[in-house]
Amino acid sequence: MGFFDWLSSASNSKICEGITDKGSNIEKDSSKNMITSVSSKPKTEIDCLLDINIRHSRSFMDSTTERRRYRGEHPTEMAEPKCVDVRLHLPVMTQTTFEIIQPFRSLGGIFNLGWSFFQAAIDQWVEYSISRSRQCLIFVAYHYTRGDTHRSCRGFGYNTDATKSAAIQLKQQFDSVYDKSGSVVPIVCGIETDLDALVLHGENGQSN
Ligand SMILES: [Zn+2]
Repeated sequence: MGFFDWLSSASNSKICEGITDKGSNIEKDSSKNMITSVSSKPKTEIDCLLDINIRHSRSFMDSTTERRRYRGEHPTEMAEPKCVDVRLHLPVMTQTTFEIIQPFRSLGGIFNLGWSFFQAAIDQWVEYSISRSRQCLIFVAYHYTRGDTHRSCRGFGYNTDATKSAAIQLKQQFDSVYDKSGSVVPIVCGIETDLDALVLHGENGQSN
């Protein structure tokens, strides 16, 4: 069973149900203006993170039907290798359902298809897509800001030219490795985080 089959299997739906069941033990104590568990113990930061995870898991499961409907209408799988910066949230920017665009995250957005784990993950995603007769579109993302430079990518020392060059090199790696299949199309995508704008680059790296 592949990773993507694992994600959609019924047994793992029960895992998420188990997580959300735990959420039923959470209630708000309005008299103290704080969130407490039924045991009235103050929530720790870890508890709050787990609560966020519960809400996201619930949201993911609630959108299962929408993902199936979308995939039925659009015969292309999309992926996005990108920085771990939390501002890079394409479902919000593109108003698409969670996981329609499969994220692959790395510190600083630094990737190399020579990394065995990364290439294995991409291979599995490509095999999954092709096995279902679907094309593969990969947004090779970098990010920057039109305002303060220090809101750009810290992983590249806030140097937008450097992060863009790395994205172009990664696209070239995708071209080199998957060129023969014709089913994998990588495209360099700049994400400007002040306006949540996407800038798509052509084959020559130009954006217009
Ligand atoms: Zn970054």
